[in-house]
Amino acid sequence: MTIFIKAPAKINLTLDVLNKRSDGYHEVEMIMTTIDLSDRIGLSEIKEDKIRIISQNRFVPDDQRNLAYQAAKVLKEKFKIKQGVSITIDKAIPVAAGLAGGSSDAAATLRGLNQLWNLGLTLDEVAEIGAEIGSDVSFCVYGGTALAKGRGEKITHLPAPPNCWVILAKPSIGVSTADVYRNLDLTTIRHPNSNAMIDAIYNGNYEAICKEMGNVLETVTLKTHPEVQHIKEQMERFGADAVLMSGSGPTVFGLVQYDSRLQRIYNGLRGFCDQVFAVRMLGDRFSE
Ligand code: ATP
Repeated sequence: MTIFIKAPAKINLTLDVLNKRSDGYHEVEMIMTTIDLSDRIGLSEIKEDKIRIISQNRFVPDDQRNLAYQAAKVLKEKFKIKQGVSITIDKAIPVAAGLAGGSSDAAATLRGLNQLWNLGLTLDEVAEIGAEIGSDVSFCVYGGTALAKGRGEKITHLPAPPNCWVILAKPSIGVSTADVYRNLDLTTIRHPNSNAMIDAIYNGNYEAICKEMGNVLETVTLKTHPEVQHIKEQMERFGADAVLMSGSGPTVFGLVQYDSRLQRIYNGLRGFCDQVFAVRMLGDRFSE
């Protein structure tokens, strides 16, 4: 039996870092939403008691470094599963891009194995297990729109923002999240106003959402990777309503409401950037 699960990417409408904790993690406050750019995870039972990762993408590790592998391992150990599984990862989300691709693959693997192995876990229980694998995994278990606090694992669900297009452009560089956090200077950053963003989302106020977007990690990545700054400027020039880097980058996204303007921005970006996507926000959370 094989089951297929969708693993959507996320964007950060806000990303704030409050402080560095004594355990080495950063205390964050992020408002994230899932978008219609998804990997596809296939899960099949295999005879051998092993976890096998299959992916055509050369940037995706096929061993224990893969977050989907770690997800299967955690469940196997916790629930003493003696069954092997083959995990096929059909990648559409760019790797090391600030779009939580690996975390979403892990979350989809947890949701899928909960089904395949009849574990009967609630989504809250799956999200709690997800937090052991990575900071963004809990959010990815639920999808939709949420405020994430703590290391990223404390989730408060929010309504879907008003419908709009999301245009993403990823320059052909990878960014290490760990390096970006290491180089962040907490004394000089301008914090986004998470509460104002939450109000804007509750009010369905598109203009206010655009106005309140902010990501403190831009202070690091825009300096070390000028191509990210360049994409931001071009997206603004082509007419996006608001433009921001997602996560630790290097992907930049722009919001736009009108189809006519979408085409102009898309074509303009394609002139100098290989990976450009125009997608919708997903809106809904996954159900139990
Ligand atoms: P985040 O936004 O959560 O910081 P990201 O989008 O920047 O994540 P990923 O695409 O998750 O980054 O990849 C980061 C690294 O994780 C990659 O360089 C890769 O080696 C490793 N990795 C582990 N599992 C996966 C996976 N399933 N898909 C892609 N990369 C993975």
